[in-house]
Amino acid sequence: AEGRAGAGRGADRFLFVALGTGIAGAIGLAGGVEAGANGFAGEIGHIVVRPGGRPCPCGQTGCLERYASAAAVGTTWAEESGRPDADAADCARAVAAGDPDAARVWTEAVEALADGLVTALTLLDPGTLIVGGGLAEAGDVLFRPLGAAIERRLTFQAAPVLLPAALGDAAGCLGAALLAQDLLQHIPQTTEVRT
Ligand SMILES: [Zn+2]
Repeated sequence: AEGRAGAGRGADRFLFVALGTGIAGAIGLAGGVEAGANGFAGEIGHIVVRPGGRPCPCGQTGCLERYASAAAVGTTWAEESGRPDADAADCARAVAAGDPDAARVWTEAVEALADGLVTALTLLDPGTLIVGGGLAEAGDVLFRPLGAAIERRLTFQAAPVLLPAALGDAAGCLGAALLAQDLLQHIPQTTEVRT
């Protein structure tokens, strides 16, 4: 949905990454999404960015989503700020207000995110990078340092066009509808009418 009707409209390849409870990704190609041989293509949240780091429910340690998902930032900020119900949006507000502790937590997440994204960009050369999910609601507080952190890591790779997702929570439903529409168009039409 983000590729066809949202932020990436008109881009024939893109990488969409959602920063929410975890981190999910979709590899957009020629109007569709590359699902992989087993449906797991784009699982960028489980790229290891901090070897030997925080344990992940997937069984690995140091996975990207343990550092840069909205849930991870919220958990870390709740611990650091001493406010158990603080979330990622609270952290973003504190960053915008100039809180140095929040800035440290935020930078740690942005750096991890850039590490994971540059791995994906190197592999896919998608041209367009769309970032959505709860953490992306922070707007410039996220996109400005993220763009800079990505640029710092690039050597020969072309810098992607970095875009905030445009469809918000509706993206999942719209994407499912587009998939269903595609599937229907590929079902052979029956010509025989049974009575
Ligand atoms: Zn994992």
